[in-house]
This record gives sequence, structure tokens and C-alpha cells, in this order.
Amino acid sequence: MRGTSLLVLSLFLFSNLSGCFGAFEEGGLFSDSDSEEKFGIPGGLTLACLRSTQFESMVVEVDYSEGYEPDSQTISTLKDRLEQVCDKPGGVSILVTQTDFQHESSWSADDIREKGRETREGVPQDGARLRWHLMFPSGSYEASGVLGVAVDASTAAIFLDDVRDAEGFLSRPSAEDIEEAVTVHEVGHLLGLINLVYESSHQHEDDGHPGHSNNEDSVMYWAIESSDISSFVSNDVPDQFDSDDLDDLAGMASGELATVDQLWD
Ligand SMILES: [Zn+2]
Repeated sequence: MRGTSLLVLSLFLFSNLSGCFGAFEEGGLFSDSDSEEKFGIPGGLTLACLRSTQFESMVVEVDYSEGYEPDSQTISTLKDRLEQVCDKPGGVSILVTQTDFQHESSWSADDIREKGRETREGVPQDGARLRWHLMFPSGSYEASGVLGVAVDASTAAIFLDDVRDAEGFLSRPSAEDIEEAVTVHEVGHLLGLINLVYESSHQHEDDGHPGHSNNEDSVMYWAIESSDISSFVSNDVPDQFDSDDLDDLAGMASGELATVDQLWD
């Protein structure tokens, strides 16, 4: 069920800085038939990752357009961060593949959903393996200044043209550092951060940027997704979840925090 109603969460309230989880596909929790994959909202597969009850292992399919292969450091950090918080006794593997998305220049959230569903090939979302999908296409998000966007429970895109343009003066921060941070940041949204599918007991969601941290040392800091990142982050770009983020994830995993809108639990 697509386009039943689009809920735009304060998307452009503060210029483009809160665009990173795009327009949600409400109603996506329900499929027309049981055999159809349910896509949900960012955070809809959080417990599926944090717990091993449904999925013992996980694969992240990383698809990139020619010339847009993510850095090996990005891939290893991504794997580390997932292994840090998700209970996957069967392991987390990353499958990196060059892909022709047959789509250029401007991407809407719907384009990302549609091309993602057409091009993913790794693993179906059933059985014992959880599958998430990261796309690194050529081109840009339709809203300018957005470096990455999470569009449903398992899919996110990172726009390396814009990441490269966002590199700071004298490469501080470098495009590689920004790419790494934005990638972990989008996966953080797939993990439900911040307050997407639960309510934190910590006051760390930024007032002006829903779904984002007010701590500049968290990878979920609101400026991480923005092309203005180099003007907000002067030294090292955070690529780690902070203690509040980790506490939220632990609370959801243990059941201490109620978690809503889950496709699997
Ligand atoms: Zn974000």
C-alpha cells in the first residue's frame, strides 16, 4: 500500500536540516497479502536487529552506482556499530555490489523505495536472516542539502556527490569522514534513533530537529546529515552512538522501553 497518506515530519521546518528520514510511508506496516514484504517506517525493524528471537544473523546489502563505491573504512565501521548493538549470534555480513539503478540526478523518497525494491538481490526478508539495504547512487536527494535519508524500515540512501561537496576547508572534515558518519547516522535511524519508535528517558532529542540528537558528539547529531556539516563540526566528525543513544537501544532490547510500529519482534 503506497501513498495512502504521506506524513511529512517537520521536514523543512529548519531549512533542510531535518530531511534525513524523509517522508514516511504511513500504512506501510500492512501488506495486501501475507507473502508480500512489509516495509514499515524507519525503526520498524529495530527489535529485529537488537534481538535474535526472529533473526539470528543479518546481511546489509550495499549497492552503489559506478564511481560511488563507499570507502572500506565506512563498511568496517558500519559492521562494528551494528555488531556493537545488535544481537546476531550468526553474524553481521556486508554485501557490497556495483548496481545500475537506472535512475539519475534527483531522487525522491519514493524513487529510493522503488529502485531499492527493484535492485536488491541479496536475501529475502524472511527466514533467519535480517536484510537491510543501503544505496549509494549518483545524484542528489530532491531536497537540497540532504546527505542521506532513511525511507522505510530497512532502506536508506547516502548521496556521495553531496558528501564530497560537503568536505570542509583543507579536508577538515574529509569527505571520507563525512561519508562514514552519514552512513552510521542513517543506520541509526533504521535502529529507531532518536524517539522514532520509542520514547527516551533522556532529554537528548534536539528541539528543532525531530529524530536527532542535541549532542554534537553523537553520530545522531542533527547536523551530521546536512551539507553544512563542516560549519557545525569543527574537529572530528562523530561516528559513534553516544551513551544516551546506546542506553535507548539497550532499553528497547531489554523491553524496558516500549517499542512501537515493529514489523517483527
Ligand atoms: Zn538524520
